[in-house]
Amino acid sequence: MFFRDIVGQERVIGFLRQALKHDQMPHALLFLGNAGVGRGSTAQALAQALNCEDRQADQDACGRCRSCRWFAGGGHPDFWQIGPEGEGAHPPIKIEQIRVLRRQVSFSPLAGSWRVVLLKPAESLNEEAANALLKTLEEPPEGNVFILTAVGERDLLPTIVSRCRRLTFGAIPQAVLIRELQQRRGLSPEQASLVAAINYGSLGQALEEDLEDLLARRNKAVSELEMLHRGSITEVLHWAEQGKKAVGLDRLVLLGRLWYRDLLALASGASPGQVVNQDCLEELARQQPQVTVPVILARLEALTRLQRQVRANLNVELALNNFSFQWRGEGLVPV
Ligand SMILES: [Zn+2]
Repeated sequence: MFFRDIVGQERVIGFLRQALKHDQMPHALLFLGNAGVGRGSTAQALAQALNCEDRQADQDACGRCRSCRWFAGGGHPDFWQIGPEGEGAHPPIKIEQIRVLRRQVSFSPLAGSWRVVLLKPAESLNEEAANALLKTLEEPPEGNVFILTAVGERDLLPTIVSRCRRLTFGAIPQAVLIRELQQRRGLSPEQASLVAAINYGSLGQALEEDLEDLLARRNKAVSELEMLHRGSITEVLHWAEQGKKAVGLDRLVLLGRLWYRDLLALASGASPGQVVNQDCLEELARQQPQVTVPVILARLEALTRLQRQVRANLNVELALNNFSFQWRGEGLVPV
């Protein structure tokens, strides 16, 4: 992994290149940002650059030396990754793991000049483990760089945060996502536009998206939303009853929002090139004259409200009932 492979994070990479150039690498870094924005890849690129025996003028690794060949082969003995271990939905990083780490980092790096320890995600450190790690961060042994990743600082001990140099990874711009999806996955511009929009800002997630599944879900979402304002009350209630058991409701809402944003864009005079659902221009053009802008705005609001309620784990069937009546412009069901 090289700095030049990291897309959309110029500020962070610029900082790391400068720190390498002036030999001022902080001993502890905190990479903040959402999943899929490049935190893990950047940690690996930094580890490779730090250990490269022939680092380039731009501070990127050479790709040819012994150390770079180790990285290319799948692992370098001085790049360690520590993550949650154990059963269950959210196992923690345990104190035993940190105790072992503390013993091991007191020895010199095995092969390279620098050992890089990636703790990902730092939110998984339980309190005991975080306190044990704190001791190491307070007196970091020479030759080690600790990198912690987290979505935000809120779930971390303030004492841990204050020991680290914070670097924030922003959302990757849509245009960059679309370009990368075309290059790396061979998607058409139309396909890339939808995949980028549904995985807002996250290259990692966008690259893993199952396109066929996404298109099927989108088509299902569009036809269900159309049924809601054309169907009978019985059909609507049946939909809400079924919907409470459905998986991926959050995604249905997101796809619905993208669809109605497209209708709004077309109603506001945007060019067809600006819509997300590029493969459905004909269907969008058919639907657009049937809805006024106030109706589109009301439906977008209904979708946003439903999304909030689903995420807050409220009574899903009631939320779906209310949503469907709001969608039809028939007011809310009394609670
Ligand atoms: Zn090298």
